[in-house]
Amino acid sequence: MHINLPSKLRCDYLCSTCGYRGSVEYNDPDAIAEPEPIPGNSRLLAEQAFRAAEVALEKKAQRSLGLLRCPSCQNRDRKLTRRAYRRALLPLVAIAPVLFMFCVIATAFAAPGLIARAPWAPVLVGAAALLTIGPVVVGLAHRRLLREADSAARFLPGSGPQPT
Ligand SMILES: [Zn+2]
Repeated sequence: MHINLPSKLRCDYLCSTCGYRGSVEYNDPDAIAEPEPIPGNSRLLAEQAFRAAEVALEKKAQRSLGLLRCPSCQNRDRKLTRRAYRRALLPLVAIAPVLFMFCVIATAFAAPGLIARAPWAPVLVGAAALLTIGPVVVGLAHRRLLREADSAARFLPGSGPQPT
């Protein structure tokens, strides 16, 4: 037994800056086009899987919706956009320890004489590398989140600007 899990969702968009309201069709960018196999041909399991996917999709859509650029005033919600920086930190958290260790070891190897005079130098190099690369990595990840939100959501026609 196979079922098609939901990957599309219609949501309401409300701009926090200008009050623009619109309908948005959200397309899960990570959705698989093929139907999911359900173990044991169980109808109950299939229903559970469908509902779980629906809830997850709803959550994801709401998160993306908050990052959308308003078609009317071209603004993004400032608070939610800023909050997305926290999610953008994740790739840095993943690479930071590796990068730091690499810099410490590389410095120790490249300048063994330096260690005797300044044992803290490799750590300093590691920290400097993190401070340089960190903001770039987070910035890129943040921009990708916004781009993903923009490409996953489509404003439906007929949702023109409405006075509030
Ligand atoms: Zn707006």
